[in-house]
Amino acid sequence: MDVTCLAAGLLQRLISTVYPPRCVLCASPGMADRDLCAGCYHELCWIGAACTQCAIPLADSGGAHIRCGQCLQKPPSFDRSLSLFSYRGNAVRLIQQLKFNQKLAYARLLGSLLADQVRSRGIELPDCLLPVPLYSKRLRQRGFNQSIELARPVAKSFGIPVDLHSVIRVRDTRAQSGLDQKQRRKNMRGAFQRVRPVKHKHVTIIDDVVTTTSTVNELARVLKRAGVERVDIWSIARAG
Ligand SMILES: [Zn+2]
Ligand SMILES: [Zn+2]
Repeated sequence: MDVTCLAAGLLQRLISTVYPPRCVLCASPGMADRDLCAGCYHELCWIGAACTQCAIPLADSGGAHIRCGQCLQKPPSFDRSLSLFSYRGNAVRLIQQLKFNQKLAYARLLGSLLADQVRSRGIELPDCLLPVPLYSKRLRQRGFNQSIELARPVAKSFGIPVDLHSVIRVRDTRAQSGLDQKQRRKNMRGAFQRVRPVKHKHVTIIDDVVTTTSTVNELARVLKRAGVERVDIWSIARAG
């Protein structure tokens, strides 16, 4: 161990002593240096069996590689998805606190849970992570992009880069409710623009909540057209 590593380790231990981890949901002592206790960890709606392509929860596991009817009928532009939680209960609370109350520490917590799952499930690592870009006006309003904040701890954990510059969002497309699947896809067309060459062959998109997949699908489509061979989606929660 070199001196820098030793110093970082000592600093981490000092921080843990002065500020012991506390559960952000119930204030009990956190587990394994995380701001989440074991009870709240197990109470989160973890997704078990799910479609390997879009991560929608499925009733029956039926083998390692299963796809839902929708992905079989009309395959999306992305290849694989991982989503940690159903968007219910405390998962909603954690994500909303991050997005609307600037609780950036929650991004570290959720990002580290995501990295854990990638590791424990043996999921193939991409060449880079690409957080879903926010439209510039929304970025100014919020002050940060939650997907970038979620991607950072994951990137750090695996030592892979985060691509923040290849694709930008050129249109705000928030008003998606009330539209059916086909209309949503149409509404998303042209929302993203590639502004630099994408040099990686395997890219994983990071999103906070995947609802209809129309956003990530459009982003994946843009990446595939730019020559990316494989696009995966890692998200904290799956709604819908
Ligand atoms: Zn707790
Ligand atoms: Zn699916």
